[in-house]
Amino acid sequence: MDKILVANWKMNPVKEGEVIKLAKASDQKNVVICPPFIYLKSISKLLRKAKLGAQDAGWSESGPFTGGVSAPMLKNFKVEYVILGHSERRLKFNETDEMIAEKVKSALTAGLKVILCVGEPAAIRKQGTAAAKKYIAAQLKKDLSKIGNLKLGIGNLLIAYEPIWAISTSRDQSLKETPEIILEMINFIKNNLKSLFINHKSSVLYGGSVTSKNIKRIINHEEISGALVGGASLNSKEFSKIIKLTYARK
Ligand code: PEP
Repeated sequence: MDKILVANWKMNPVKEGEVIKLAKASDQKNVVICPPFIYLKSISKLLRKAKLGAQDAGWSESGPFTGGVSAPMLKNFKVEYVILGHSERRLKFNETDEMIAEKVKSALTAGLKVILCVGEPAAIRKQGTAAAKKYIAAQLKKDLSKIGNLKLGIGNLLIAYEPIWAISTSRDQSLKETPEIILEMINFIKNNLKSLFINHKSSVLYGGSVTSKNIKRIINHEEISGALVGGASLNSKEFSKIIKLTYARK
């Protein structure tokens, strides 16, 4: 299966001119561009090869949720993917696993492909691999608790393993993400999903300080279905390099 690269622009760029330039430069096959909501429409008009993703979606179809955007609204806007449960939303917007579980259900019901982010904080990683696995297993169980029996578009579920300590903006300098650690956690997530959903063939991506310098070491492993790229996706030259290295790997 083709690897996918997800560009998470977060709350960037500020100027629409830059948005258009960056979107054009990133418009390649197997790339998912996730801009702020306000740019979705203009980007959807110019993309030829890349897919469009959102960075969040509400858990309700409509209603009194000031500032909210729902999954069916995104679907109507030609959005195909949505990132849910990003660590920044969990930590800075106080999103709980219960809220995320409702969002996952709502997005899958609307027919969106969900990129569910899971990842342990530095304090847990410092306790060792077993503690990290326990933390991730609990996140998966809770975040996917609303879809188990319904089998709602489970084929549209992707997981992104994003250890919080490896994300460029929340780095813990005393820890280092090695291909071995990433691979071990991704295999753990895959097995965990198999036990939650029988025979489910899941796509699991990695995210955390991916750049043109380390992409090859990560993406070359068959078990890793792609990468979620934050900071490096905002620099068009750097992101183009990442795209080239990902697809010229064989
Ligand atoms: C992220 O925040 O999802 C992320 C992967 O960011 P970065 O690539 O900058 O570490």
